[in-house]
Amino acid sequence: MQNPDVLIVGAGPAGLTAGLYAARSGHSALVLERAMVGGQVALTSDVENYPGFADPVNGMLLMQSMEQQARRFGCAVETAEATGLAVTGSTVALQTTSGPLRPRSLIIATGVKSRQLGVPGENELAGRGVSYCAVCDGPLFKGRDVAVVGGGDSALDEGHYLANICRKVYLVHRRDEFRGAQVAADRLRNAANVELVLSSMVTTIAGSGKVERVEVQSRKDGAKRTLDVSAIFIYVGSVPNTAWCRDVVALDEFGFIKTDALLRTNLPGVFAAGDIRTTPLRQIATSVADGALAAMQAHHFLTQQT
Ligand code: NAP
Repeated sequence: MQNPDVLIVGAGPAGLTAGLYAARSGHSALVLERAMVGGQVALTSDVENYPGFADPVNGMLLMQSMEQQARRFGCAVETAEATGLAVTGSTVALQTTSGPLRPRSLIIATGVKSRQLGVPGENELAGRGVSYCAVCDGPLFKGRDVAVVGGGDSALDEGHYLANICRKVYLVHRRDEFRGAQVAADRLRNAANVELVLSSMVTTIAGSGKVERVEVQSRKDGAKRTLDVSAIFIYVGSVPNTAWCRDVVALDEFGFIKTDALLRTNLPGVFAAGDIRTTPLRQIATSVADGALAAMQAHHFLTQQT
């Protein structure tokens, strides 16, 4: 891989938009992705709130379209994982699984990964009924009973997706109010095959070789209940993907990258965009906006260097 003017780590909405804007500004732009292009959005069934689509759009298709659009303007998208970062003066040195890179500027857009519930059975039965991706694994449980955990937008949206596939969906949430959008909560409340199990915590995921039941306990009266389900879909938030750069880039108390209003980090020529940074709202729309701004700031940085 050649050293680009603008290196972008992460091919979610922020990274691909940054690649599009950097390439259109006349720079060589390279987006690195360790796994699948599209980030968390590619694991999303229907996207309903990204402007420009009157009808729901499949997350994977939306992200494939963003990739094609960036590539059309000359942005390269390669598979490699960033494993380390060193910045000395204005020199940015990135370690990757495909070797070292020395870009003239760097945009960090590595997003977030699913948070684990941390209960017995979760690791043991991962991939055998424990899932963090309804769109990937939901169809395997067509016509069966499943549980969804969480009360944010992800749990509500993916719970609705599963309700269209599965016989019954138990939505287990630790409070009796939802963090996610009201419209999505109401839709689940009104679904005939969804049962809300509120103010309750999952205590154990059990089964022999595959998920067979989930134990929950009420936080109000301590009552225990067994849900006989074939799968549990866990949506209890996310943690930032900063393992490769956290010793160098300044983070907030929750591990997200601190930026100023121009998306500059504490390091010269290094910007952060999308879910990875400290921000009050994590949406595709905000990630895309971040990507555009970060790329234009990288452009100004490079222009000042020459
Ligand atoms: P989130 O908004 O952080 O919600 C996480 C949920 O999990 C919360 O309801 C939280 O409960 C619960 N939770 C956290 N730790 C738990 C634990 N140990 N045990 C049980 N429950 C636990 O995460 P998200 O839903 O993945 O969404 C992440 C971001 O993406 C958000 O900004 C969201 O708005 C955005 N997003 C948007 C859309 C959309 O616009 N359609 C779709 C998906 C995601 P509490 O509420 O009690 O804290």
